[in-house]
Amino acid sequence: NKELLKIKNLKQYFPIKGGVFGRTVNHVKAVDDISFTIYEGETVSLVGESGCGKSTTGRAILRLDDPTAGEVEFDNTDLLSLNKKEMRQMRKDLQIIFQDPYASLNPRMTVRQSLNEAMEIQNVVPQDQRNDRIAELMETVGLQPHQADRFPHEFSGGQRQRIGIARALSVNPKLIVCDEAVSALDVSIQAQVLNLLKKFQEEMNLTYLFIAHDLGVVRHISDRIIVMYLGKIVEMGDTKSIFENPQHPYTKALLSAIPVPDPEKKIDRIFLQGDVPSPMDPPQGCRFHTRCPFATEKCAQEAPELREEDYMENGHVAACHYMKDIETGAHQPTKDTT
Ligand code: SF4
Ligand code: MG
Repeated sequence: NKELLKIKNLKQYFPIKGGVFGRTVNHVKAVDDISFTIYEGETVSLVGESGCGKSTTGRAILRLDDPTAGEVEFDNTDLLSLNKKEMRQMRKDLQIIFQDPYASLNPRMTVRQSLNEAMEIQNVVPQDQRNDRIAELMETVGLQPHQADRFPHEFSGGQRQRIGIARALSVNPKLIVCDEAVSALDVSIQAQVLNLLKKFQEEMNLTYLFIAHDLGVVRHISDRIIVMYLGKIVEMGDTKSIFENPQHPYTKALLSAIPVPDPEKKIDRIFLQGDVPSPMDPPQGCRFHTRCPFATEKCAQEAPELREEDYMENGHVAACHYMKDIETGAHQPTKDTT
């Protein structure tokens, strides 16, 4: 498949001002040199605890915040070289759905007005066909066409999220970034919305970048998974490899947090302790070493690179000094985390 989105050495450092003169005294390294590619028609999920740089990555891709450094290539266009107007036109192909659908809906506009506006700005559906398209979109996301004349506050959270999806779909995008798009919904509604998104993907050849803190939620929708920790990618691979053959202790910890893990697969459970350290002063060496049960002196000094061992398949890579020895049992936990 064709490469649709290519991220290279992306960095997003936010300056921290301080002192009497308001100088930059430090930086929050929210995203610190990450690279990955998404192919057309794929669903890729970016997972990690909050504060790991997932949303920042999503926002940088859409240039809601311009990144500090790196390259973002979308559909053979260098997004970072576009001016404001060109970037606005690009939004037709590149949409985002937020956890809080209020963020993308104007409270003073009816749903019909919002959808109309989106289609008008992007000039995607001729005016005389827009009402038909709105009715179709409402039905597609499981709402009644006449409900389009209501205001956002007249809907429940789940319904509003469906409207957010309808709005994103109304312009026929190529890629949708879903930033915790289903996290706030009840489990049953979550499943409905995920199924809807899956259906649209097949019908419209959509590509998704899912941002989520819960691996369980994205399991059935993802082709590939990228795990981030403190601004770095620590593991990436196809969904099967990540679930059945996780290599990084952090990925194993995230998997251990899923309420009902795979009963057939015995994965050593790792329970995370403490919070993610501040991205202003990320730990030296492997950033996970302050919480990793397998950490050694070497981990505190040397940063591991993403690489693959001979038993890993399909582009599966992870960044841990000891992944092979942990796999074979040659490297045992150095701390108790049970
Ligand atoms: Fe843990 Fe060391 Fe591997 Fe980092 S490199 S994940 S600290 S064992
Ligand atoms: Mg977030």
